[in-house]
Amino acid sequence: MGRTYLIKPDLDEDYPVIDYGKGVYLFDVAGKRYLDASSGAVTANIGHGVEEINEAMMEQAKKVSFVYRSQFTSKAAEKLAEKIALTMPGDLNWSFFVNSGSEATETAMKIAIQYWQEKGRPLKTKILSRWVSYHGITIGALSMSGHPARRSRFVPLLADFPVVSPPYCYRCPYNKNPRNCSYECAKELDVAFRRIGPESIAGFIAEPIVGAAGGAITPPKDYYKIIKEICEKHDILFIADEVMTGFGRTGTMLASEHWGIVPDIVSLGKGMGAGYAPIAATLVTERVMEPIRKGSKVIMSGHTLSANPQSSAVALSVLEYLEKNNVIDDVDAKGTYLKNLLEKLKIVFPFIGDVRGMGLLIGIEFVRNPKTKQSFASELNMTEKIVRAAKDVGLLLYPATAGEDGKSGDAIIISPPLIVTKREIE
Ligand code: PLP
Repeated sequence: MGRTYLIKPDLDEDYPVIDYGKGVYLFDVAGKRYLDASSGAVTANIGHGVEEINEAMMEQAKKVSFVYRSQFTSKAAEKLAEKIALTMPGDLNWSFFVNSGSEATETAMKIAIQYWQEKGRPLKTKILSRWVSYHGITIGALSMSGHPARRSRFVPLLADFPVVSPPYCYRCPYNKNPRNCSYECAKELDVAFRRIGPESIAGFIAEPIVGAAGGAITPPKDYYKIIKEICEKHDILFIADEVMTGFGRTGTMLASEHWGIVPDIVSLGKGMGAGYAPIAATLVTERVMEPIRKGSKVIMSGHTLSANPQSSAVALSVLEYLEKNNVIDDVDAKGTYLKNLLEKLKIVFPFIGDVRGMGLLIGIEFVRNPKTKQSFASELNMTEKIVRAAKDVGLLLYPATAGEDGKSGDAIIISPPLIVTKREIE
């Protein structure tokens, strides 16, 4: 396109200019069609160009788009919070609306710290996490993220919160396999809490399925039950970062439901506005809200556009769309179908080392040698090459590798809109 003044991810690259989107497809101004097999960054959960959402957006815009949260509330925000409380598992009844996933995890962090302050335990301020992980790009969220590539420039500003291994079964740090696994990685948390001192720890944050930092790294059956028990034993809040996994992506409203747990705090984003508006949320249980409601009554966070009626109306119509069309009911079957097709490719292409994930959040890890699981050397940038080659032929994939510390491999995520058909999956 020649010179523009837009700061793009890569300043020297000519990005295609998208003209419009419909369903699982995007079309650029040159007429090229892209199958959006990643929903952008795992965001366009109901596909592109959905009329109902556009209409809801227009209806709200005709009334009012913005009111400031310290002065007013709105019907749209109130209704959205109510619908979320009815839809989410357990007593995750309280919603704090923000504009991005990073803000949602950062707010989760602050609410966890405030909870302990209101309970008279102000020394509990650390939020531990896993290496590898990704919880967002702002400094607090990045402090919790075990993502070397995104941390490296800002290390002096960041806390060292990622301390335990994720349940990375394909490359188990304990050299175990599903038959002899005794959840050593989950038990690491107990050791870390004792070493660091539970009296200084407010919470532990984890993505139910590791997304951007590893490519749908999925824990075994009892993992989160053990994690939750360890958190409870040490009086530490469990925060589920469901920014990528929430809103039906894995076949349930929250991925945490697969493991039968209700987190104390949840962060949501991406699929919440499904790309139609910037909106995200931090959900809080009754138990965590109680001392705040009885105490200061003010959550010390917020953004100018928090709970704006325009974005709230969009998220509400996305939820209604999911419900009306029973979208989430089919996600498991569609994901299984896609995973089975990918497993067949694994036989043909030995560089496909692992196919994993749940629902329509599927990861593929590429290896030089499937027997030794040897990665491609990081300087080859294999993930980037694969994503680029796919885009050249009109297929969008999401790169999911945390960088060069050797703790995660070359992985991509396949995460089409949840409305994808069998034919489109093929
Ligand atoms: N948390 C998780 C699990 C994510 O995957 C992401 C984004 O990829 C974020 C937080 C940050 O969200 P955002 O990019 O909207 O700030």
